Amino acid sequence: MTPESIAGAAYIVAALLFILSLAGLSRHETARAGVGYGIAGMTIALVATVWVTFQGAWDEPGTLLGLGLLVVTVLIGGSIGLWRARIVEMTGMPELIALLHSFVGLAAVIVGWNGHLDPPALEGSLADIHHAEVFIGIFIGGVTFTGSIVAFLKLSARMKSAPLVLPGKNVLNLGALVVFVGLTVWYVMDSQLWLLVLVTALAFALGWHLVASIGGGDMPVVISMLNSYSGWAAAAAGFLLNNDLLIVTGALVGSSGAYLSYIMCKAMNRSFISVIAGGFGIEAPAKGDTDLGEYSEIQAPDAAELLKGASSVIITPGYGMAVAQAQYPVAELTAKLRERGIDVRFGIHPVAGRLPGHMNVLLAEAKVPYDIVEEMDEINDDLAATSVVLVIGANDTVNPAAAEDPGSPIAGMPVLRVWEADNVIVFKRSMSTGYAGVQNPLFFRDNAQMLFGDAKERVEDILKSL
Ligand code: NDP
Repeated sequence: MTPESIAGAAYIVAALLFILSLAGLSRHETARAGVGYGIAGMTIALVATVWVTFQGAWDEPGTLLGLGLLVVTVLIGGSIGLWRARIVEMTGMPELIALLHSFVGLAAVIVGWNGHLDPPALEGSLADIHHAEVFIGIFIGGVTFTGSIVAFLKLSARMKSAPLVLPGKNVLNLGALVVFVGLTVWYVMDSQLWLLVLVTALAFALGWHLVASIGGGDMPVVISMLNSYSGWAAAAAGFLLNNDLLIVTGALVGSSGAYLSYIMCKAMNRSFISVIAGGFGIEAPAKGDTDLGEYSEIQAPDAAELLKGASSVIITPGYGMAVAQAQYPVAELTAKLRERGIDVRFGIHPVAGRLPGHMNVLLAEAKVPYDIVEEMDEINDDLAATSVVLVIGANDTVNPAAAEDPGSPIAGMPVLRVWEADNVIVFKRSMSTGYAGVQNPLFFRDNAQMLFGDAKERVEDILKSL
């Protein structure tokens, strides 16, 4: 058996473990095992790659230095990764993921450049294919790199979440693609360095523009889309490095990310093509300066009285519950109300919070029974027959404008129809907008009352009054 065939066998085992990992991660009962498979697969992949790279060269002068550099880099990278993963809050998870995607993109760009500066000895059509791989790899990697950085900046509120609307933005995106195709043909025929500089700059600009053009409400789809791009960038790097496992893994990430984006687009009633093409076809939303009227306020003791008299309560949590870490008092409140014979359930919007499944994880952490946690589609029709809805730190996901105002930037996004309930209590700190930056007419409805302050403190106040 040659070293390459042993490494090939190890790669097949690793690829199978990655597939098992994806399957495991799709259900939260099996998610832990899924992570385990992923770690095992990655360990096998790394050991096999290092071994096959240095095989037969152990007594060459540069080997020790190469291995030493590799170990030091892995240790530094691994320690930073471990440290960040340990300290990251659940609310900071999507931006961390966005940042990690940017590394994959940058790595693909560097691998592409290396493929140009240190080309393998190839001739004829094989050399042409190599040139095309270099060029395409750099382009996908570049788009992923800057796109992910913009996503990171938007998610961490370092950049405004509103979409950037440059005049003729669709033409700009399409034009960039056409130029890319033209440059690829040119580079394959005549592999000049300046073409590489140009495509790198073009990819950086396109990635930046694509994600900057996408509004706050569509960000969840963007994250999974960038996940997909990072997979294709890795696959492109796999072709260049002649590494089958990287190609397989990249394709797995690329296709699963694309499929997740598609599912999320369907759930949010968004056009898949429009989102992956940087808000293609969506023009600047009309700014609604309409006077929404007066809102009314409620205090915790009155909210407690209202809850005591209720027969059914639905809690719709959102990002604010995560910020306030209010899930524990919310779980306690749920238990107290259920002891009184009140029917309490949770309504979870598919993009509540800042990552898919965010609310489910928090509620599971606080030991809220699974059987009272329902998805938006399961619970939406029951809202009209509910005595009290508690909107805890949610905003965009309960915005009636999405259902009723075709001019709203979030028009068409399915929302929890909380306004149909007899009474709605909204827990938030101010009248400010949610992630999409859109004002919420719910707060001004006659059956809605605002309970201002930190969600955790206000729920604890209600518990005291109960
Ligand atoms: P929103 O982001 O729309 O609103 C959250 C609300 O919570 C804010 O209005 C804020 O109001 C309030 N809040 C913040 N901190 C506290 C606190 N300590 N106590 C009480 N309230 C607080 O949340 P939703 O969950 O309804 O919507 C999610 C949004 O995020 C959607 O637009 C979605 O598209 C987007 N998104 C979702 C992702 C996902 O995968 N789930 C990923 C990326 C974006 P105030 O400041 O007044 O307190």
